[in-house]
Amino acid sequence: MPAGLRLTIDLDRLAGNWRRLATLASPAECAAAVKADAYGIGIDQAVPVLAAAGCRSFFVAVPEEGLRVRRAAADADIYVLNGFFADGAELYREYGLRPVLGNPDELAAWHAWHDGELAALHVDTGMNRLGLTMDQASAMNEDHLQACGIGLVMSHPACADDPTHPLNALQLERFQALAAQFPRHACSLANSAGIHHGADWLFDMVRPGIALYGGASHPDAVSQPVVTAEARILQIRTVGEGETIGYGATQTMRRESRIAILSAGYADGYLRAAGTSDDREGAEIAIDGHRAMLAGRISMDLIAADVTDLPDQVLEVADCAELFGDTVDINQVAARAGTIAYELLTGLSRRAERVYLGGGGTG
Ligand SMILES: *Cc1c(COP(=O)(O)O)cnc(C)c1O
Repeated sequence: MPAGLRLTIDLDRLAGNWRRLATLASPAECAAAVKADAYGIGIDQAVPVLAAAGCRSFFVAVPEEGLRVRRAAADADIYVLNGFFADGAELYREYGLRPVLGNPDELAAWHAWHDGELAALHVDTGMNRLGLTMDQASAMNEDHLQACGIGLVMSHPACADDPTHPLNALQLERFQALAAQFPRHACSLANSAGIHHGADWLFDMVRPGIALYGGASHPDAVSQPVVTAEARILQIRTVGEGETIGYGATQTMRRESRIAILSAGYADGYLRAAGTSDDREGAEIAIDGHRAMLAGRISMDLIAADVTDLPDQVLEVADCAELFGDTVDINQVAARAGTIAYELLTGLSRRAERVYLGGGGTG
């Protein structure tokens, strides 16, 4: 079915990003965070490719995602970050899902229920989200954790994307104390950004997510874009000087302009906040490698871009525009909308056509 927005997902680049991170993290194990449908790119496609690249451990948020990972990777270790959902207890057993236990009640419930199945323990070192407090953790003894089937002790950094933030050193120091307290347990602290903080941060396992999918995580990060979003060009129209574009008439053209109208909008998950007004520049798009600025507000199903300065020959033949990909950095688009690539990727809607490249299959 012809679509307005096409997402091309390069699975070879996904595998390449994983391999680069795994090399950087070695000898620590490199897992993969594949929650939220592998950050929007598709668990069913991403997981087999990551497993073939050598990834053995996968992190999801909720059990339903764990089931999908199990179907895609029969032998993988699968961790459920949001913990043990007692109303779905049998799923953990049936699909071999390991809950990441995040408070003492959950640990007790798991202790009472489990029968040798493994789990992970989350300790909070400064995020104040999930995890035992440092006090609760220091009251635990290692034998009790083993009786609970805990194979992995983990924590999560709040500010690893900002190398200058003082919370990084504090979280590391706290986690080092935990690792010393539980010497028989594997330990994991780093997300994508944490991998770039040096050998101290690697422990036994790292858990990258966004860097696998081409999002920026840290100034030193080196991952290639995985997703290219291209919208069909519906028409190119001329708009006179002094006229406005789109809802709210937020942008007035200062010259006679050529405007490309694209078949994508916020209903596809492209961010409405990325639009342009007289006061503020929005995101860019690109046509055949030539950049252009969005014009006016983003509608539900349509986007306008000012292509006045693009060469005629380019506009005559172009049938689609890149919203992000190799020319337009997804991180820049997200930043112009006041958000991060995580939100843009995970919000891409099912209306968009998805085309998979590489990965040893045809998609
Ligand atoms: C999402 C998540 C990750 C991956 O984070 P990125 O910033 O995407 O690398 C790792 N660990 C935990 C606990 C997470 O919730």
